[in-house]
Amino acid sequence: MDLKGKVAIITGARRGMGRTHALALAKAGAKVVVSDISLEDCQKVAKEIEKQKGEALAVKCDVSKKEEVDKMIQMAVSKWGRIDILVNNAGICQFKPFLEMTEKEWDLTLDINLKGYFFCAQAVAKQMVKQKSGVIVNIASVAMGQQGIGFPNIAHYCASKGGIVGLTEALAIELAPYNIRVNAVSPGMIETPMISSVKQDKKTIEAILSRVPLRRVGRPEEVSNLVLFLVSEDSSYITGSTVVVDGGWLAA
Ligand code: NAP
Repeated sequence: MDLKGKVAIITGARRGMGRTHALALAKAGAKVVVSDISLEDCQKVAKEIEKQKGEALAVKCDVSKKEEVDKMIQMAVSKWGRIDILVNNAGICQFKPFLEMTEKEWDLTLDINLKGYFFCAQAVAKQMVKQKSGVIVNIASVAMGQQGIGFPNIAHYCASKGGIVGLTEALAIELAPYNIRVNAVSPGMIETPMISSVKQDKKTIEAILSRVPLRRVGRPEEVSNLVLFLVSEDSSYITGSTVVVDGGWLAA
């Protein structure tokens, strides 16, 4: 896939899937804004990209803070003059029984996982509208609801991921007249630091994998391959979709 000349922003890109999305898009030729809360870690990913002869800009951005999001967009536009791709990826998943969940915990998850997607998508879409083109990929999860599998102790996370699917569909309709496509990707269990606590719990991981037909956790690169397809011209007629990459979990 050829992304030469394209400018992409990836949030939550210091590690995990955000990092592999950034590397994959850069390898395909895109100039990549690597953003996350830790600037130092973003700089490390940017250096990896430069080592593979790509172009990158490391930016500190807490997606739950509108002023930081706006600054990130300004930095990207002033460096490269445009934004063609946004991968809304930053997220947290904190375990807490629903009956003990505090308002602060609820707000933290929703502020990052859903409001952050709104801030980034809106700021980027304003630039894309001027260009009359663009692609947004929102990372949801198989925990998005309505799939026949439930996830206890992460009610706030499930609510945020279901919200992302609704947001994706609404934006796909509103932004289509400007030639902007918006899709969601719902990963299953993927090998990143986010699932380290689940992996330590042998019983839980075995129970999950017994329901995944491919009987293994996915690799971040296997999700990046889908993201790459959705941001490329090869998916030019796909918008408003939520595509699952889960080793068959939801089908079983
Ligand atoms: P990860 O390794 O924890 O990466 C998430 C990144 O987002 C981290 O670097 C994190 O930084 C960053 N982040 C957190 N809050 C942020 C904020 N306010 N602003 C900017 N960045 C922030 O997890 P991952 O598994 O790669 O997750 C990537 C996305 O995939 C998330 O949206 C997640 O919900 C989704 N997902 C993951 C799985 C899975 O099995 N791994 C499955 C389905 C969906 P800190 O480390 O400092 O918090």
